[in-house]
Amino acid sequence: MYDINDYGLTEEQRMMRDAARAFVNDFVTPFIRQNWQREWIMTPEDRLPRKILEMADQIGIRTLGVPEEFGGTPLDPKTQVRTFAIIAEEIARGDSGLADKLVQVWKVSTLLKNIAPRHLQEYWFPKIVADPGFFLAHCSTEPRGASDRWLGYDTPETAFQTKAVLKGDEWVINGRKQFVSNGYDASLYVVYANTRPGIKMREGTSSFLVPRGTPGFSVARCNETLGGRFMNNGEMVFEDCRVPRDHCLAENDALARRSGHYSRPGRIIQASKNLGIGIAAFERTADYVQNYVQGGRILIKHQVVASRLADMATKLSAVRALLQAASRATDEDTPDADHLCSMAKLFASEEILKVCQHAVELHGGNGTMLDFGIEKLYRDATMFLHMDGTVDITRFKIIKSMFPETAGVYAGPEK
Ligand SMILES: Cc1cc2nc3c(=O)[nH]c(=O)nc-3n(C[C@H](O)[C@H](O)[C@H](O)COP(=O)(O)OP(=O)(O)OC[C@H]3O[C@@H](n4cnc5c(N)ncnc54)[C@H](O)[C@@H]3O)c2cc1C
Repeated sequence: MYDINDYGLTEEQRMMRDAARAFVNDFVTPFIRQNWQREWIMTPEDRLPRKILEMADQIGIRTLGVPEEFGGTPLDPKTQVRTFAIIAEEIARGDSGLADKLVQVWKVSTLLKNIAPRHLQEYWFPKIVADPGFFLAHCSTEPRGASDRWLGYDTPETAFQTKAVLKGDEWVINGRKQFVSNGYDASLYVVYANTRPGIKMREGTSSFLVPRGTPGFSVARCNETLGGRFMNNGEMVFEDCRVPRDHCLAENDALARRSGHYSRPGRIIQASKNLGIGIAAFERTADYVQNYVQGGRILIKHQVVASRLADMATKLSAVRALLQAASRATDEDTPDADHLCSMAKLFASEEILKVCQHAVELHGGNGTMLDFGIEKLYRDATMFLHMDGTVDITRFKIIKSMFPETAGVYAGPEK
């Protein structure tokens, strides 16, 4: 007999989930609790010990998305997105930043598996597998703002400002990217650029594979974030950065080609990491209210406390149910998959923040003390409001997906 969390999981998925759960319970959570100062170290490379990444690697949860033939963890393609969801949730239950770091490897590997030329896969996948400190990054956002790309107004005005021009056998890239997960310490980057200025965004955006160390590529800074601090978010500059012609992954149709392979699983993974934070907040709070005494009784015996706990549990179940539906829709590529993914990401971001607010309040003063670790969950949850699109833009995206003929055609000439 399974509970709702296990509903529909294969034997293989349950085994992977249990291995990830043991890793989090035995290593990640104790490490984070005992080393709460570590996320505030201001040399980004020193924050997360490599040992944790090596352990993640040993249990096979670092290289999800890398094809099995290159040494990646085998996944059933029919249930791959659900697998991503359950493992992302478990890792984020231990630490959101660690989950951010690892899921970029899954997401970008999945994209490369589907759109990179074979010889580049043969070159890069073994390198990713060989090094537990090998990170991947996906560079879309620019200083001028990301929302125009999420909305997909599809006008020349909303196109990327980073540009790439083919000169002989090389693409020359110029521009700047910001707010990129793993941007500070990745070894390999997927970079989006405008290759047909003056043409609609969806018909003139290309993507490129840019290895760290390519002349003309530099990392300008590590962004010091409010939450998810073990993932080093970065800003990159491209100044006459030259990559071989074959490093163009998708010429002019990069936005359409990333949609099913990156963006949809990406939103499911965001919602799942978010859920993991909420589960951690609930577990910690449920424990606290059954041990901490006020008014001569443990907190849970006070009805207003019990009511808050019920609210937390209900929100978590609602997020999980929507996430399960959206994961299944994505795996089965149903017509409603796109807006279900957006709904799951949006709903999780708002509901889990409320779950974490209850956790902070039920812990009283302890809830805001750094060494107690509850405020960290609130900070981590805050990040999700604007990852992979802001709350407002995601709402817009949902309606645009449901009513493409009437919603979302506001920008550009009147139709
Ligand atoms: C932790 C973290 C990790 C990230 N990782 C990555 C990554 O790996 N790769 C990557 O490319 N990006 C990444 N991002 C960037 C992220 O996708 C963007 O921050 C997000 O999409 C919002 O874009 P923006 O910050 O440019 O805000 P803007 O687009 O400048 O938006 C600012 C405000 O304007 C509102 N707004 C904008 N346009 C409209 C409109 N038409 N109508 C109404 N309101 C509007 C928005 O809702 C928002 O409130 C990351 C961000 C964070 C915080």
